[in-house]
Amino acid sequence: MKSAPGVLIRKVEPSSPAERAGLRAGWRLAALNGFPIRDLIDAFFHAAEEDLEIDALDARGRRRAMRVAKACDEDLGVELEDFPARRCGNECVFCFIHQNPPGLRRELYFKDGDYRLSFLHGNYITTTNLSPTDLDRIVEQRLSPLYISVHTTNEELRRRMLGVKKAPPILERLRFLARHGIQLHTQIVLCPEWNDGAELEKTVRDLARLGKRLLSIAVVPLGLTEHRQGLPALKPVTPRVAKAVLKQARPLLLELNGRRQEPVLFYADEWHLLADAPWPRYRGVDVLHQLENGVGMLAEFYRGFNAWARRLPESLGRSRRVAALTGPLGAKALRPALERLNRIEGLQVETVVLLNSLFGRSVTVSGLLPGRDFLRGIHENPGFDRYLIPANALREPDRVFLDDMSLEELGRSASAAVVVVEGGARELAEAAIRSS
Ligand code: SF4
Repeated sequence: MKSAPGVLIRKVEPSSPAERAGLRAGWRLAALNGFPIRDLIDAFFHAAEEDLEIDALDARGRRRAMRVAKACDEDLGVELEDFPARRCGNECVFCFIHQNPPGLRRELYFKDGDYRLSFLHGNYITTTNLSPTDLDRIVEQRLSPLYISVHTTNEELRRRMLGVKKAPPILERLRFLARHGIQLHTQIVLCPEWNDGAELEKTVRDLARLGKRLLSIAVVPLGLTEHRQGLPALKPVTPRVAKAVLKQARPLLLELNGRRQEPVLFYADEWHLLADAPWPRYRGVDVLHQLENGVGMLAEFYRGFNAWARRLPESLGRSRRVAALTGPLGAKALRPALERLNRIEGLQVETVVLLNSLFGRSVTVSGLLPGRDFLRGIHENPGFDRYLIPANALREPDRVFLDDMSLEELGRSASAAVVVVEGGARELAEAAIRSS
């Protein structure tokens, strides 16, 4: 069935150009100045003009034409429906979605590969499903920066890693985008004995030659769950592997980051935690664009903590035992904060390390822990006055864990208060010391 032209208008802002023109929620925005509107990016792009001819379809499907004048930087003032995301079409050997356990929410099995979401939300794409029309649109509408999963610049190896027979040469594609002014954040998911060692060094150097349009390269470890039946054999990232990766990183970081005003090469915090090495502090460096990739999360978590912690009380005035529930990596990350808190007389904060029963013990980050593991951690570790849990284990807006257990359910089943810690070490400390 052919879908109706244009995009559904969910909301029209009061006093906006859209309202002045006569647009209504429930109508479809079909064209602006003669350009068909396919999604909210088109609408944003074509609404930049001062004089707008608007084509719309009203709730009964009748064509409506209208005009409005506005300032060029004035928003049109419509909220449009989201577009259906495009699938990636790859079969990456390390894809986390292939390793999901059965029974999770449907959206957790969706393999997004949509360049528009890369531009809007920083989602990584491989570019294997980009058509010439998509590339033209990216350039014309300046959809920049984009987030590109490179993994390796060895084309044959890249095809094997992506699980595809054909893939456009990645360096050519990146050069095309860079030449047309598109800024690039890139990532390399490192799989031991696939794209590490000399392959990794060559990939990093090839990317660095893209010049000033290349904003970052993040080297991140692959994640393996216990649900890999029927998938290619992959080696886990062990502390030994992490140490080797960081050893190789040292001269590369000095060489590549030393050449530029802003550093370009980053290694995810997880490498440092696994190798028991000090993690980078990133003072004065904007790492926010790779935070989702686990780069600079620890630096952000501790930003300003030491200065603030000087104002912590010497004594709590009473005794209190607090448990910080987290995964094995989180426990390492919390160590400096807990050492400081445990210098407060009367306060005892301990980590309760949870092993992941949903994805398997090899998944050590706190954000992928199901609610049932928090519940078990609380039941197996009684005697605390308060249980702190990390906010990143909860999915918004419903505040449910990955296994659909709600925060309320966890709170009801716990023997003491359950407190969600949002933010960094300072918020953790506040949650531990505040009176209720
Ligand atoms: S591109 Fe991403 S979502 Fe698609 S298969 Fe590869 S890792 Fe999975």
